[in-house]
Amino acid sequence: MSLPQRRTDIGPPKYDQFLPPVIKKNYGQWKYHERLSPGSMVHVAESGDKIWTVRVASPRLLSTDTIREFCDIADKYCDGYLRFTSRNNVEFLVSDESKLAPLQNELKERGMLMGGIGPHVSNVIHTQGWVHCHSACTDASGLVKCLMDELAEYFTTKELPNKVRLAVACCVNMCGAVHCSDIAIVALHTKVPVIDHDKVKNMCEIPTTVASCPTSAISPDPAKKSIKIKEEKCMYCGNCFTVCPPIEIHNPEGDGVAIVVGGKIGSLRSDPKFSKIAYPFFYNDPPRWPKVVAAVKNILEVYAANAKKHERVGEWIDRIGWERFFKLANIPFTFQHIDDFTFARETFRTSAAFKW
Ligand code: SF4
Ligand code: SF4
Repeated sequence: MSLPQRRTDIGPPKYDQFLPPVIKKNYGQWKYHERLSPGSMVHVAESGDKIWTVRVASPRLLSTDTIREFCDIADKYCDGYLRFTSRNNVEFLVSDESKLAPLQNELKERGMLMGGIGPHVSNVIHTQGWVHCHSACTDASGLVKCLMDELAEYFTTKELPNKVRLAVACCVNMCGAVHCSDIAIVALHTKVPVIDHDKVKNMCEIPTTVASCPTSAISPDPAKKSIKIKEEKCMYCGNCFTVCPPIEIHNPEGDGVAIVVGGKIGSLRSDPKFSKIAYPFFYNDPPRWPKVVAAVKNILEVYAANAKKHERVGEWIDRIGWERFFKLANIPFTFQHIDDFTFARETFRTSAAFKW
């Protein structure tokens, strides 16, 4: 006798109960798909069945009102079916062709941006930032909003040589897909943490805190019943702060962002790639981060003007060489581009910087 299915809040529910009936019916039997516009595509099954997708950008941050608005639209045109892509685009899934144009008209009337399919930028994936995470060195959602305002045309109309995936991570933990995005921003602390010894001795476990440092910069300080940090070994990762909050790493004067380029996940034409550093550092400059936004746009436009059709950013740079990329994008080559940090283990030397 099989047990009745339990409903719990542990783990995600099985995906197939949310598939539109036409996808369930033709599962694994899809013949081809075709892009109809920057914001729509159709998938055609062996059986002749079709499903249309309309992609819109989602805002930073998502309110429950906005999610309800998306759901109401999906109820009206898509029998309730929509999906969020891994980069937080919203895709409305339409199985009745007669509802496609009315859906697109309504999305337009509501001011939603349709696009992101094919050789465009798609929604920018990002992490939590100052809004939510304790480690953040920047305001990820605010910065992404500024980027999206500036690059919206590349989502809706302007074509690029290939798709360009953008990402922002608000510390080097990189919850975002920064290491494998075409152009990405990663936020950095740049100062050695400051230790509040009175609190450390009351709030933290010394062995755990010592063990939390990946470069062995932390050692016990028995006289103070606390810890000490060997400054030249610290790479400002913030791990110790996570384990022991009185080791404060945030520094309004020192925190900022770097821009890395050339990463990708896909193995089409070339292997997946890690991104590498392009602009080593910009200080945080809220609320509009003009220099960071201009730098991302500069890389995007130089890529658009110089890459061959279908080349991803990393493939283009590999073809022309990093030296030429720095010249074309007018990025100064500085000491920060060279990985000469000697205190990390061998395996750490897969960083975003050039090896030395
Ligand atoms: S990237 Fe860092 S700061 Fe941002 S959400 Fe992840 S752990 Fe927190
Ligand atoms: S910030 Fe990172 S490298 Fe520096 S002391 Fe803390 S854990 Fe070690």
